Amino acid sequence: MGKVTSDMSMSLPELRAILNGRVIAPDDAGYDEARTVFYGGIDRRPAVIVRPADATEVSLVVSLARETGEELAVRSGGHSLAGHSVSDGGIVLDLADMRALHIDAERRTAWTETGLTAGQYTAAAGAHGLATGFGDTGSVGIGGITLGGGVGYLVRKHGLTIDDLLAAEVVTADGQLLRVDAQTHPDLFWAIRGGGGNFGVATRFQFRLHEVDTILGGMLILPATPDVIHSFVAEAGAAPDELSTIATVTPAPPLPFVPREHHGRLVVMVMLVYAGAAEAGQRAIAPFRALATPIADMVRPMRYPELYPPDEGGSHPVAAARSMFVDAVDHRAAETIVDHLQASTAPRAVAQIRVLGGAMARVPAEATAFAHRTRRIMVNVAAVYERPDEAAVHEA
Ligand SMILES: Cc1cc2nc3c(=O)[nH]c(=O)nc-3n(C[C@H](O)[C@H](O)[C@H](O)COP(=O)(O)OP(=O)(O)OC[C@H]3O[C@@H](n4cnc5c(N)ncnc54)[C@H](O)[C@@H]3O)c2cc1C
Repeated sequence: MGKVTSDMSMSLPELRAILNGRVIAPDDAGYDEARTVFYGGIDRRPAVIVRPADATEVSLVVSLARETGEELAVRSGGHSLAGHSVSDGGIVLDLADMRALHIDAERRTAWTETGLTAGQYTAAAGAHGLATGFGDTGSVGIGGITLGGGVGYLVRKHGLTIDDLLAAEVVTADGQLLRVDAQTHPDLFWAIRGGGGNFGVATRFQFRLHEVDTILGGMLILPATPDVIHSFVAEAGAAPDELSTIATVTPAPPLPFVPREHHGRLVVMVMLVYAGAAEAGQRAIAPFRALATPIADMVRPMRYPELYPPDEGGSHPVAAARSMFVDAVDHRAAETIVDHLQASTAPRAVAQIRVLGGAMARVPAEATAFAHRTRRIMVNVAAVYERPDEAAVHEA
């Protein structure tokens, strides 16, 4: 077996000899699976994929990349839309085998390695009736979502994911393993809370846990008229902080709980999460049920981890997608959403609206690198399609 790449200073056998973690090269079984990321249409062939066993090995891989000048792609859950967690010809540092989690239920804190997914962390914390807020999808890695900020089902009640980040361990480009928190390396701690992945490789996070056991939540499906969309945004902004919502405007998929006559017609699929007492939750959710006659109403008391159904895996959508922050969705904007979704030829076209505020907005904008504290609404628009050669149509 030759060098990792033509000018790399360490051969694969040497790399394998010094690491306990897995080293996966193009000739190895499992290479194609290991280089696959969540989004389809990203077909890159790294020279090697390394799955370090611990932070010392992470440091070794970072040093190897620095010394050889090879491109280094860092991966936690592999959900980067831009494909940042896989390199063509370089080294992938995949944290998938670093999943140790220690929950201190009494102190309500958890130390976790960063290869864990949001769903795995939530299930483990949920066993203690505790939670840290992540996003809406269990398979997203806690590495990427935390470093980017983290907007999820508890955003109005407990803030962004980074608002519960108490400390982290980070391997910097010089190979040092630093512990960072508000007192130690405060500038780096500031940067990794919302600044993204390039300040170093985060190997462990310490999170605050909240008591979040039974919530009132689930999906409410409403017809998608401009009136309903506009009024939804107004109600979500006026709701108590306990209630966070994610509304997805999209043609109704042919799911068993969607009556047949609505299949393919534009609906608003609202995920509601009231993190508080059920009775008060019912009162908070009533205005949403009154926006129109619900097509389906699956809102019920449930345990918080039930919001993350088991990941079936294997799906690799190709998507043209953009996220943006806005301060209002007025009637005209709601009409635009409806018109564009109806005109889209994508197999799946969505506009997802998240009304923010609450705890997230109470943290001063300068406290962390996340710059959008005062924005009222996050919108994601996406055209999900199958054939990569249709990219131009759906990007447009
Ligand atoms: C289906 C889906 C649903 C989503 N829902 C939400 C949501 O509800 N809320 C929300 O806020 N976001 C959401 N996101 C966005 C998601 O949080 C980001 O794409 C996030 O960066 C993915 O993290 P990852 O670890 O899975 O991805 P990766 O591709 O592994 O990493 C993403 C980026 O972070 C870097 N990185 C990852 N781990 C580390 C680490 N340990 N140290 C240093 N750098 C690292 C990578 O190099 C890459 O640049 C969603 C994305 C998808 C695809």
